[in-house]
Amino acid sequence: NPGENPQISPELMEEHLKATGGKVVTRFPPEPNGYLHIGHAKAINVNFGYAKTHGGVCNLRYDDTNPEAEEQEYVDSILEIVRWLGFEPHQVLYSSDYFDQLHALAIKLIECGKAYVCHCTGKQINEQRGGEDRGPRFACAHRDRPISESLAEFQKMKEGRYGANEATLRMKMDLEDGNPQMWDLIAYRVKFATHHRTGDKWCIYPTYDFTHCLCDSFENITHSLCTREFVLSRQSYYWLCDAVSVYKPVQWEYGRLNITNTILSKRKLLALCNAGHVRSLDDPRLYTLPALRRRGVPPQAINAFVRELGITAADAIIEVGRLENHIRDALNECAPRIMAAVRPLRVILENLPEDHFEELELPYKPREPAFGSRRVPFTRTLFIDHSDFRETDSPDYFRLAPNKTVGLINLPYPITCTDVRRNADGLVNEVVCRYENSANAPKPTAFIQWVADCPQRGSPVRIEEVRIYNPLFKHSNPDDMKVTGGYLNDVNKDSLEVVNNAVADVGLWDCIKRYAATDVGKKELREHNVENLRFQFMRIGYFALDKDTTLPLSTIANDKVSETKLIMNRVVTLKEDAKK
Ligand code: ATP
Ligand code: MG
Ligand code: MG
Repeated sequence: NPGENPQISPELMEEHLKATGGKVVTRFPPEPNGYLHIGHAKAINVNFGYAKTHGGVCNLRYDDTNPEAEEQEYVDSILEIVRWLGFEPHQVLYSSDYFDQLHALAIKLIECGKAYVCHCTGKQINEQRGGEDRGPRFACAHRDRPISESLAEFQKMKEGRYGANEATLRMKMDLEDGNPQMWDLIAYRVKFATHHRTGDKWCIYPTYDFTHCLCDSFENITHSLCTREFVLSRQSYYWLCDAVSVYKPVQWEYGRLNITNTILSKRKLLALCNAGHVRSLDDPRLYTLPALRRRGVPPQAINAFVRELGITAADAIIEVGRLENHIRDALNECAPRIMAAVRPLRVILENLPEDHFEELELPYKPREPAFGSRRVPFTRTLFIDHSDFRETDSPDYFRLAPNKTVGLINLPYPITCTDVRRNADGLVNEVVCRYENSANAPKPTAFIQWVADCPQRGSPVRIEEVRIYNPLFKHSNPDDMKVTGGYLNDVNKDSLEVVNNAVADVGLWDCIKRYAATDVGKKELREHNVENLRFQFMRIGYFALDKDTTLPLSTIANDKVSETKLIMNRVVTLKEDAKK
């Protein structure tokens, strides 16, 4: 529901059209006070997408008017993430670019009798607005002070002669109006804080309400697209542009995007970090965009997810499973299939000679030759995954157990378990099997993946650490006070499982080498960026290298797998209901 387009004078419109040439201009306006999250991916797609569809352009504008919370690290991360999602800002701008212009317009607003310096406390201002129980509203004594006095007082604010809560500049709006956004909003406040760009030049900073519409106007934004919590602000947005006689963009609102089983608020994310529930703000269990990126989620999956939802007007809480389905779809397209055992269990094929050696040419993606293939050894000793063996058989179990037969993926014959060997603690650490390489071999009902123990051929590739992520919260709305008593009480203690010494077939190393041989791959690996190395571990899930990986280019060139430290994240399981 975009509301009505505002009236605008022909002169201002002509000037605006001269500046834009009639093109659509939008902007994505994040505050650099944290990492972007999945909700911002919608805002990015809406703004860049709307401009693109209409042959226009979209700016990135950092809304940096709260110096205490803003940091260069977030500025850098935001641009990086916008680009990662595949969008290139027409211009990168900052609200702080306009501090001088904004200050000049504040003076203009005072001069035309539409702003005044006020010395009321926050509590007093609240009372003037009718208080908690929305009683009668009234003006304060400062509202009608002479213009010259407000000009002088505003100058004193700027010179640092007032403390933080001693003076504000307020807009003289309309206390009779039913819209709280018209009740003399604050335009400027005193803050003795160092700004990440303007340093200590200013000790007064404009508010969002004063800044946002004017910066949109300066940039000749045609459509100021924002989330629904700004519906009431539309009136004050237009009011201020009119009050200082500048071009006025159209404001349209769309619904916020949230997902289940997580929280996105910056403050709460920091609290989770500080309490040690996650390792960092880009911990792959979170839904910040840097976290999703680190986890191995392809950007196309995120864009497809938000596009599928469309530009809805209503706020929405979407099942996280829908995002996961898009991640599976995207990885299904791009991830080579390899065999891996996350918890390896050694298997001896007793009827094969010690030096038995075969090589199989296995495609990375059956029926898609463009993905290529690798040569995988098959020898007397193999690794399978511990979860594919059970000592106690049952009729509904079809994998390996004593005296039971199971197929090996990509091999013509199955294996039958004939014996088990135990370690000192009595735990099975080796399974003895017969390779049923005869015409009358039993027919298996299930097939499992395997990796040969053949160091001469670089098999297996050892993975130092596999990180398996489970939901960070137990409930779909972790912050529902009635159900959980607050998100910090809803943390799943088993959200991270770390498994050491997993093994994969030689395809893992082969893909790394291929990647390192491309220009893009070389560049990224040099920058320790390994996010594009994503795989399907057959039957298990999709996995990607984590940035904690140690993988110097020289180790790749010299085939020194032993000098690497591969750390992999489980991005997502293969199927929706699979747990592990
Ligand atoms: P948060 O409160 O989650 O930190 P914010 O609104 O304060 O979010 P900004 O940096 O101001 O964060 O947001 C930049 C832009 O992204 C704004 O236009 C905002 O409306 C939009 N945006 C923020 N969160 C969402 C969301 N969950 N869904 C859609 N758009 C969002
Ligand atoms: Mg904001
Ligand atoms: Mg916020």
